[in-house]
Amino acid sequence: MIAHEVIIVGGGPAGSAAAKELKQANRDVIILDKKSFPRVKLCAGWVTPKVFKLLKVEPDDYPYGLLKFNKLYYDFGKFTLPIPTKQYSIRRFEFDNWLHELSGVEIIQHKVEQIEEKDGYYLIDGKYKSKYLIGGGGTNCPVYNILFKGVSPRPVENKIVAMEEEFEYDWKDPRCLLWFGDLKFKGYSWYVPKANGYLNVGIGATYLGLKSLGINIREAWENFTKKLEKEGLVKSHNFEGKGYTYFLRNKISNPRKGNAFIVGDALGLATLDMGEGISPAIESGILAARAIVNNSNFNVNKIGKYSFTSILFRK
Ligand SMILES: Cc1cc2nc3c(=O)[nH]c(=O)nc-3n(C[C@H](O)[C@H](O)[C@H](O)COP(=O)(O)OP(=O)(O)OC[C@H]3O[C@@H](n4cnc5c(N)ncnc54)[C@H](O)[C@@H]3O)c2cc1C
Repeated sequence: MIAHEVIIVGGGPAGSAAAKELKQANRDVIILDKKSFPRVKLCAGWVTPKVFKLLKVEPDDYPYGLLKFNKLYYDFGKFTLPIPTKQYSIRRFEFDNWLHELSGVEIIQHKVEQIEEKDGYYLIDGKYKSKYLIGGGGTNCPVYNILFKGVSPRPVENKIVAMEEEFEYDWKDPRCLLWFGDLKFKGYSWYVPKANGYLNVGIGATYLGLKSLGINIREAWENFTKKLEKEGLVKSHNFEGKGYTYFLRNKISNPRKGNAFIVGDALGLATLDMGEGISPAIESGILAARAIVNNSNFNVNKIGKYSFTSILFRK
């Protein structure tokens, strides 16, 4: 049995941020992730300055591709509103690997399937053992599914379905564009240029909102990619979108059970207006780690529920 004081399941932003904090406090911690890093993660990769603030890193010190946007273009169908702001785009393939390296914590490639609680310890797949367990495995996190599903439900009203694609593209329009009218304000679609000749395009909506419009996400994606072609934003590209589901912020009752914690998408923390999940994932990971280090409560209520304030006030 391989024993550590803390085992983190999932090396995304939530898991790596928790790992970084624990390592800084000299705690014995490892990460288990089913994928080998660097790995692809479906995400527009639009980040707020708060992400860097939480990690105590200056954006200028980020070693990979970073684009800065001084405006976001909100398209409401009849008119487009340029909103002055300070936001960035990153590629998750690079960002998550960087954040993991920043943590200085070992990551072991292992897909977690079984978790048992025995004599005050968590036993994982009969191979790993820990006193504390942090579930940062995203929407399908096994820590959530096995230990929390019954006590901390994620309501279907908060479910988001999304399709997107990130690809090498010599984009000509450097604006970050967001369309709200196409999905009748049940969601939005995006065009996010990235540094070094990459582009991310995608569409996301609440599951129930899309259902009420009588279309599925694949149809919405196809309409959207046709629009990109028609408007000349993407030319001669064979689109191959992929889908993913995650949850917006809900009334969180039990993010901790004994010495087990859930963080990030496992808990359902993405902002209610924009579905921004990277910053809440990082913040929740840090808070879970501090609860372990300080032997204190794990309270996620102070994590912001909306992106709009940070967009407008350039936080
Ligand atoms: C299409 C799309 C676009 C988005 N765009 C944005 C955006 O622009 N900005 C923003 O802020 N947010 C965005 N989000 C949300 C954001 O991607 C998530 O909120 C964020 O990634 C959550 O981080 P996390 O660490 O909780 O989980 P994840 O990033 O999902 O990481 C979970 C990790 O757990 C691992 N794992 C899963 N199961 C197991 C297992 N059984 N055993 C071991 N390891 C496991 C996975 O391999 C993964 O590495 C978007 C989401 C989608 C789907």
